[in-house]
Amino acid sequence: MKQKETLLTTPLKDQKIELSHLIIEEMGDEHKTSSVDTPLRSDAFDKTDDDKIAAIEPHFRAIMETLGMDLNDDSLRGTPLRVAKMYVKELFQGLNPANMPSMTLFENKFQYNEMLVEKNINFYTNCEHHFVPFFGKAHVAYISSGKVIGLSKLNRLVEYFSKRPQVQERLTMQIGKALQTVLQTQDVAVMMDAKHLCVSSRGVKDDSSNTITSFFGGKFQEENTKLEFLKYIELND
Ligand SMILES: [Zn+2]
Repeated sequence: MKQKETLLTTPLKDQKIELSHLIIEEMGDEHKTSSVDTPLRSDAFDKTDDDKIAAIEPHFRAIMETLGMDLNDDSLRGTPLRVAKMYVKELFQGLNPANMPSMTLFENKFQYNEMLVEKNINFYTNCEHHFVPFFGKAHVAYISSGKVIGLSKLNRLVEYFSKRPQVQERLTMQIGKALQTVLQTQDVAVMMDAKHLCVSSRGVKDDSSNTITSFFGGKFQEENTKLEFLKYIELND
């Protein structure tokens, strides 16, 4: 720790920048995150979706051309616009809070006070460090405080937070915290099991490893409740 501080306060300005770049690059490859909230600019939603698509298209065209590709080719011609639309309208539409699914609560008429587990929710998201997919299964559980939500809403919430450039730890926490707010209880658990293409298709090229992250709130921090949840999600299919 101390050594790192010394390195960063080195009086040579250029060297300082180089070192902080190295640390940031390493942070990306190690998939570390800096905060629970997605880092957003203050002007994040000043532009309309159509304005964003129009702005991204020439940038993506420039990337392809810089790589040496000939965009006069019929197969490539439409790619920049296609990618711009896909980013704004599909893959990253969850950046905008206006796209958060509505979460209607119902009274828990059956007085079902046991754990409810929704397991094997498929999710697809993109790593914010490499902009390539990571995907897998999310398992979500809560203990009702008197309110319940429709099961499909749990899937929708997972999908909403997945449609951002993400880090798996943050995605897991964002889902957990949002559920705590919506369901008005701390008793929420989330576990995510994912494969990262930035680990399997490049870098260390490890295609057998999975990454597992978890969020345990309220009663789920107690050993018995946690174990009950883990037992349910262990049962395959
Ligand atoms: Zn990555």
